[in-house]
Amino acid sequence: LGRRINNAVSGAISSKEDVDSAIDVMLKEIGRALIESDVNVKLVLNLRTKIKSQLKDNQDLQVNKRIIQKVVFDELVSLVDTKTEPFKPKKGKTNIVMFVGLQGAGKTTSCTKFAVYYQRRGFKVGLVCADTFRAGAFDQLKQNATKAKIPFYGSYTETNPIKVSKDGVDKFKKEKFDMIIVDTSGRHKQEADLFQEMIEIDQTIKPTQTIMVLDASIGQAAESQSKAFKDSSNFGSIILTKLDGHAKGGGAISAVAVTNTPIIFIGTGEHIQDFETFNPKSFISKLLGIGDLQGLMEQVESMNFDNKDTIENFQKGKFTLNDFQKQMQMLMKMGPISQIAQAIPGMGDMMGQVGEEETTNRLKRMVFIMDSMTKKELDSDGYIFVREPERILRVARGSGTSAFEVEMILQQQRMMANMAQHTKSMMDSQANMPKGP
Ligand code: GDP
Ligand code: MG
Repeated sequence: LGRRINNAVSGAISSKEDVDSAIDVMLKEIGRALIESDVNVKLVLNLRTKIKSQLKDNQDLQVNKRIIQKVVFDELVSLVDTKTEPFKPKKGKTNIVMFVGLQGAGKTTSCTKFAVYYQRRGFKVGLVCADTFRAGAFDQLKQNATKAKIPFYGSYTETNPIKVSKDGVDKFKKEKFDMIIVDTSGRHKQEADLFQEMIEIDQTIKPTQTIMVLDASIGQAAESQSKAFKDSSNFGSIILTKLDGHAKGGGAISAVAVTNTPIIFIGTGEHIQDFETFNPKSFISKLLGIGDLQGLMEQVESMNFDNKDTIENFQKGKFTLNDFQKQMQMLMKMGPISQIAQAIPGMGDMMGQVGEEETTNRLKRMVFIMDSMTKKELDSDGYIFVREPERILRVARGSGTSAFEVEMILQQQRMMANMAQHTKSMMDSQANMPKGP
């Protein structure tokens, strides 16, 4: 978005007319970008009106640009943020969670991811396959569950989904499971049969929570689909899937708005670990393509380990090797490593498309390297290695790695240091800007 706005106004701006027409171009560009990301046209028009009312007669184009960006961002965030308390299962209780959604939306996949998420948090979780509609549905769930080591229930012979869900829930209830997840079937279209089946299962198992799984790639159709589902199964949460593809997920904004139901997780791939808790700000940032910087800042801030100094340094525009070392150590504790690595600018590329194990391995070697540095080196901005290159060899030898690997780390730390500087100057210029209208 930022790029679009900048491209839209590259000519010289001198008069009020110039400013006005530049703003018109910006608004058009933004509108086009949002609609391309599947944001509802009506929403876009509302947004434009809102922006215009906030700009007033300000003549400073730079200030206007920032106001526009801020209004667009804040408005979209508030649309996907329902401010309701999202579903939190309670340990020691029987939480029955029912999954609904169209065929292919990603129910079975998300069920397993959801199960793993809570199993890792100490819940005793069981999966029930109530999809008797599609051939192979039980096998799919069985395969997923086995891989993730989660107990499951299903039947090859029983064709009544209501009976299967009841039997499965009863079985796990008796065995004192904390969470029983029921995967239901879907149809290609929103069909009366499907909704009838959903209602009957709902009345039989009386779920604590119903989750609708929504495929981000269906675009604008998300709105009507969610509405139809909401009418027959009063779901309390949404899981948005396939955000790893081309879909930007703008349709989901309308789905949330029209059902007033929060998104709780997003699916970002076919594998079990491709599952993240939903965060309105980062979702909208991605949708708008706003710089990774902000995301990085939030990420640095969200790591509330003992890294206060690192954050402070970063905000002062500094990032030493010592900061880098601390960050690496934190990352090692967080796992799954490869995903975290991808989230850090430059790191993903550096790690290349290697597997989890290899990534962990490389990260470990990075930690070894930094462990072999002296305090003086760690506290430095890294240029000490440029001035005295023999230090590189010493560190490589001490850590059992190569000079090349040491240089890679230095390069990366320099990149982060540059980023810290860049962020600081951005913050400084923002601090100097007049506060909103
Ligand atoms: P269901 O019919 O609703 O149960 O959908 P499935 O769970 O069987 O998923 C349908 C297809 O979408 C499968 O090929 C999944 O691997 C794929 N899928 C599910 N979630 C995601 C996701 O977040 N990203 C991607 N790329 N594929 C997904
Ligand atoms: Mg399924």
